[in-house]
Amino acid sequence: LKISQIRCSDFFEEIYQLFIPQANQKNIKFIKQGDDNLMVRFDADLIKQSLMNIIQNAFDAVNEKGEVLLKYYQSGNHFIIEISDNGFGIPPELQKKIFDLYFTTKKDGNGLGLSIAQKIINQHNGTITISSKINQGTTFKISLPI
Ligand code: ADP
Ligand code: MG
Repeated sequence: LKISQIRCSDFFEEIYQLFIPQANQKNIKFIKQGDDNLMVRFDADLIKQSLMNIIQNAFDAVNEKGEVLLKYYQSGNHFIIEISDNGFGIPPELQKKIFDLYFTTKKDGNGLGLSIAQKIINQHNGTITISSKINQGTTFKISLPI
């Protein structure tokens, strides 16, 4: 891991900007909200990769009136990142499979994104959890020790 000190404002703005063209094109409301003054320590390239995989899934999961929210904040001695969407949700029986390598429900999916994301979070001694309701949406919550 290449751990460095990261300013949240710069880090999340960069990721946010990467998705703006897609948000405009698909008419998705993409919102970023967090504690921008916070300084955190992690491998920026890897956590960025992990977040891009999760955000792309959120964009894939929404239709009309799609909304994707990216939140980040400190809670006790953890840094929390949440990615929420108001998309089609994940059935309970699939929730334990989605992190499996090559698991996909998409016709052109490869099932790599979440497997990689989880591996990166685990390398940082963090956790990733989901809560999801069919036809209401999904939240991925990443917790990294500070
Ligand atoms: P891929 O995107 O190639 O299918 P991923 O590993 O990124 O592979 O995701 C695995 C599966 O998890 C997806 O195919 C989808 O079924 C499910 N999934 C992931 N994120 C979401 C989400 N935000 N809403 C609904 N389903 C999701
Ligand atoms: Mg994916």
